[in-house]
Amino acid sequence: MSSQNFDIIIIGGGPAGMTAGLYASRAELKTLLVEKMIMGGQMMTTTKVENWPGYPGGIDGPELMARFQEHCVEFGLETTTGEVEKIEDLGDRKRLQIDGKEYLCKAVIVATGANPRKLGVAGEEALVGRGVSYCATCDGAFFRNVPIAVIGGGDTAAEEALFLTRFASKVYMVHRRDELRATKILQTRVLENEKIEMIWDSVVTGLESDNTGLTGIQVENVKTGQERQLEAVGLFAAVGVTPITGFLGGLVALDVAGYIKAGEDTHTSVPGIYAAGDCRTNVLKQVSTAVGDGAVAATQAEKYISEL
Ligand code: NAP
Repeated sequence: MSSQNFDIIIIGGGPAGMTAGLYASRAELKTLLVEKMIMGGQMMTTTKVENWPGYPGGIDGPELMARFQEHCVEFGLETTTGEVEKIEDLGDRKRLQIDGKEYLCKAVIVATGANPRKLGVAGEEALVGRGVSYCATCDGAFFRNVPIAVIGGGDTAAEEALFLTRFASKVYMVHRRDELRATKILQTRVLENEKIEMIWDSVVTGLESDNTGLTGIQVENVKTGQERQLEAVGLFAAVGVTPITGFLGGLVALDVAGYIKAGEDTHTSVPGIYAAGDCRTNVLKQVSTAVGDGAVAATQAEKYISEL
């Protein structure tokens, strides 16, 4: 089988992958970025980014990502759509299988990010697209003037709840504790919003539906055991993320939650394979940290290649 050769192959087209692509191609390394779906990663489902420096007043996630993409291809980065099925470590070469085709490279940067975590409640999967969603930006507009619920207490849940108040008649925010994890500014906005009702100390125990889709949500107070039924026809789960690392097949060391074990230098347990952004064990998951990781990973890969 003939294979295509690159210096670096980057897996994932979010902020980390695109920044790595920018640095690697600007360093005149023959670089390919492989993205499974659409470029931009989780930012494509983010309404407004308020903490990316240089944009007072914020910028829409997709607009920011379009600028990233324009910038990284400016230096000659090649991009392709495809799924990486396998990576093999051949020492100073890595062999990748992408959509059945073989690619060889000297270094790999894994920047695959993370997917929304499921609630794990009965009926959840069957109701996706019929009331259950993991993306307010994508599906919020389908829920005009109806009550809906957001599950979770982190930044994503807070942002989604606030965004959904534009459409829904009421937003229940169901959180398993009595304190939000979200940053203070978002907490204040949530707690001051008249359309949002907090359901504290509670978890989802059941989903009700008919042939039109979701009709109600059962929640249970974890402190009192009291059950309550929420009349909601939409459920937006925002209970964290799961790293996309299964395709690595155990090639690099992962932590118990599935994140690639890599420090700030982005080095994984395999020389020549680097991890950048949300798929790595890091303390903060933001565009800014992903961008930093992408820059570090590309420069570390460049150094590794020059020393081969
Ligand atoms: P997160 O910070 O991990 O929060 C997940 C939330 O879901 C927590 O409140 C958690 O409760 C709850 N939860 C987890 N498992 C649950 C379950 N099985 N049932 C019910 N509730 C459950 O996740 P995230 O909000 O998606 O954020 C991910 C990362 O991206 C974070 O680092 C966040 O700061 C960052 N982010 C930043 C921004 C921003 O800066 N604008 C926006 C979005 C995300 P507990 O609190 O009890 O653990």
